[in-house]
Amino acid sequence: MANPMADEMRRFKGNDDKNPFEAMSERFDRAARLLGLDPDLYAVLRVPSREIKVYIPVKMDTGHIEVFEGYRVQHNFARGPAKGGIRYAPDVSLDEVKALAAWMTWKCAVVNVPFGGGKGGIVCDPRQMSEGELERLTRRYTAELLDFIGPNKDVPAPDMNTGEQTMAWIMDTFSMHSRHTVNAVVTGKPVALGGSEGRREATGRGLLFTIDEAVRALKLKPSETSVIVQGSGNVGGIGASLMHEKGYKIVGISDISGGIYSPNGLDVPAVLEFLHTTRSLEGYPNAEPVGNAELLELECDVLAPCATENQITLENANKIKCKILAEGANGPTTPGADEILYEKGVFVIPDILANAGGVTVSYFEWVQDRMGYFWSENEVNKRLREAMVASFNELKGFSERHKVDTRTAAYMMAIDRVAYHTKMRGIYA
Ligand code: GLU
Repeated sequence: MANPMADEMRRFKGNDDKNPFEAMSERFDRAARLLGLDPDLYAVLRVPSREIKVYIPVKMDTGHIEVFEGYRVQHNFARGPAKGGIRYAPDVSLDEVKALAAWMTWKCAVVNVPFGGGKGGIVCDPRQMSEGELERLTRRYTAELLDFIGPNKDVPAPDMNTGEQTMAWIMDTFSMHSRHTVNAVVTGKPVALGGSEGRREATGRGLLFTIDEAVRALKLKPSETSVIVQGSGNVGGIGASLMHEKGYKIVGISDISGGIYSPNGLDVPAVLEFLHTTRSLEGYPNAEPVGNAELLELECDVLAPCATENQITLENANKIKCKILAEGANGPTTPGADEILYEKGVFVIPDILANAGGVTVSYFEWVQDRMGYFWSENEVNKRLREAMVASFNELKGFSERHKVDTRTAAYMMAIDRVAYHTKMRGIYA
């Protein structure tokens, strides 16, 4: 008998495999079809609630004003305030931010965190900007969004090329306008300003917890499991070092300049130290250099793309050799590639679960800020582990019961939860 899931997958026509919003919508549509989602709910959940575009004048160090384009998309509020990071990059687009905002909605629902989804972005090249320029950019962007963000409205966090300092500036700007300190307006802040212990490592740690579960499910042992990590930033770098500590064999890792490979396992702390001092992996002495594309196609048990969107596509999916694909990045796999991976039998830990550790600890940070009472790092990590393991098992159970691939299962679980809230609240139409 034909496999109904394979037929579902074949419905993908590959219209624009690399447009992140289309990629998100493609998965959303499939999950909605399989759920038999009510057409009214479908119409509401398929689109963002609000798309904000701002033009941000910034006084550059030369004394001239430059105007940057920025976005904040608030996809859904059914389960709570919008939540999601802000990224700074030259190629940020509204479609990308829309997709990322929707992914936040589904991600928060998968791990059962009481938030909706949002995302922000500014089109800029942070590597070409001074600290002062970045601060002025961040503060003016925040000022433009004052009416739309807040602990009960929309709570930004770090994403690509933003971090604790960026969050401190946003928190301060928002607080100055509110005339009192509002630390719960953002998460991922420095610990001294109301940040949470363990937040910085949370995405990498959450990734490790889901990989541990998948490895157990496939009856592998960490010490016999080879891992390739694409990316060495907050997700890839921290993920790789936590996996290394746990006894996994990290055989490959990369940064923007390219990758390195060593079949006997890399000394991850030494690699990260080298990267820290030279700012590139290029020239690392104790491993073979490999290109970023080539790295993804090497033999390994676990492949963890932790960089950016569209890394595993129609073009290279059939060359992927891993048993487990653990998506540390948002949207690293295109819908066309999903079908190929499914047919190859790769166990996919979908992004909206694999990288949900970050937003889970963001939720803990927001809770701690509102209580004014802070937990130890052990407490945070313990709660994170419980949340990730429970969500992994729910997802695995759902996918087995409904005989759907894990990505579709994650979307179905998430959409069902958001739809349930929306239905109970009623549509104010
Ligand atoms: N930017 C992260 C993500 O994509 C974290 C978002 C948050 O903590 O709100 O999940």
